[in-house]
Amino acid sequence: IRVQEYRPQAFTNFTKEENVKAYQEALAKVRQEIVGKHYPLIIDGQKVDTAERMVSLNPCDTDEVVGTTAAATKEHVDQAIAGAWKAFESWKKWDMDARARILLKASAILKRRRLEACAIMSIEAGKNYAEADVEVAEAIDFLEYYARSAMKYAHFGSAETTWFEGEENGLMWIPLGVGVSISPWNFPAAIFLGMLAAPIVVGNCMVVKPADNAGVIAGFIADIMLEAGLPAGVLQFLPGHGSEIGDAMTGHPKTRFITFTGSVPVGLRIHEVAAKVQPGQKWIKRTVMELGGKDALIVDETADIENAVTSAVQSAFGFNGQKCSAMSRLIVVDDVYDEVVGKVVERAGKLTMGTGEENANVTAVISQKAFKSISEYQKVGAGEGKVLLGGEAPGEHNGKKGNYIQPTIIGDVDRNARISQEEIFGPVVAVFRAKDWQDALDIANSTVYGLTGGVCSNSRERLEEAREKFEVGNLYFNRKITGAIVGVQPFGGYNMSGTDSKAGGPDYLSNFMQLKTVTERW
Ligand code: GLU
Repeated sequence: IRVQEYRPQAFTNFTKEENVKAYQEALAKVRQEIVGKHYPLIIDGQKVDTAERMVSLNPCDTDEVVGTTAAATKEHVDQAIAGAWKAFESWKKWDMDARARILLKASAILKRRRLEACAIMSIEAGKNYAEADVEVAEAIDFLEYYARSAMKYAHFGSAETTWFEGEENGLMWIPLGVGVSISPWNFPAAIFLGMLAAPIVVGNCMVVKPADNAGVIAGFIADIMLEAGLPAGVLQFLPGHGSEIGDAMTGHPKTRFITFTGSVPVGLRIHEVAAKVQPGQKWIKRTVMELGGKDALIVDETADIENAVTSAVQSAFGFNGQKCSAMSRLIVVDDVYDEVVGKVVERAGKLTMGTGEENANVTAVISQKAFKSISEYQKVGAGEGKVLLGGEAPGEHNGKKGNYIQPTIIGDVDRNARISQEEIFGPVVAVFRAKDWQDALDIANSTVYGLTGGVCSNSRERLEEAREKFEVGNLYFNRKITGAIVGVQPFGGYNMSGTDSKAGGPDYLSNFMQLKTVTERW
């Protein structure tokens, strides 16, 4: 294979004036060319429109419609799944390298359109420049990384059996068939793309439902995949309401596997629907789940305090805490509690509020539904601890209606409080006063989740203990606990946080394949 070795994309430096200017030009271009656009369904390579339209709003200015998509019905699901199985007959026989080249081509197109993709997400999801930039970098990384992983499976993936006299034995990786993907709005480019590119590159065909609140960026990405040369039927693009088509997709007898990123309740529901065998079904459906988190950062008395404060603020409030990896619990050892918490509150209090387009630190949360739920948790939290920062949900900024929520920090919370146990998915942090290091680790492990976690400490012994005992899929020491990089920090949680499938990891593609052992006796 003569393609270059995988290297993660560099991030853009927005302290450079020319980069800010280029971003603003992209915003203007997107406002002119993409805002207001309509994205139909794509079934068997054809654009299919529906009478009903899903409307995507700008969270920072909810009077603005960013664009619309068609809304798929159950009949479209049936059609898409049937069409995908038809396409599978030839797609599965494609040479792995040739399939991988389609991902590499898509990556090249996305690199050229990187700023446009960023700008769409600033308008549609309220991402500031750095958050959008990092996400598009991740989307490109997924394409590049999975393309190369697939090539490795093709060339080296079958040479793992032990020699046996008189026989030839070998293992073959084969694709599963047709899968469905239900992806989240918080990484509507990267996760949407990663969840479809990985199964596709190893020979599966996908029926994908993008998130309700981010149809425009999803439509933009789907078009790039087609432009890169995916044959008709390999990628069936089905925006629609979860309540209308969710069960139809996951419960369909011809669905072979389901890949989902989202909340625990929805994930468990999907798992349950998938478990029920339907008439005509001849396999046990596989589910690949990336679910929620109640992620904690521990700061002990040996920590570099400045570094701990930066790590906490970045982890909690990057993209308004709307990451399953976001720090929603800060656990500080009593000795340094007042100092650390005081500085975190001070630093977070300086975050600017505004729109994604203005490149504010804190923007509006994604939807009215999220706004209601998070503001409800602000109230619950006020009853469960001391509000140290924020606590309000203004719902507007600079005269524009938007889903604005103040960054909120609640101190001296009990480990069993609701805001200690339930995922909030917004800029609301519960702070815990731990007696000592052991107590801190106990608090950290006191939820059903196990996604990300971190420790700021200079004690080698404690870091080693955390390495072993901190129950999370992604553990970070002396840095923020968000922002996993493809190939560098394979990402995913265990316990209720998911099936630990490790997106961007060396074995991720095996989630979408099965192995066949073939023996020939001579
Ligand atoms: N991979 C992202 C990170 O490391 C989080 C993904 C998510 O929120 O679903 O921050």
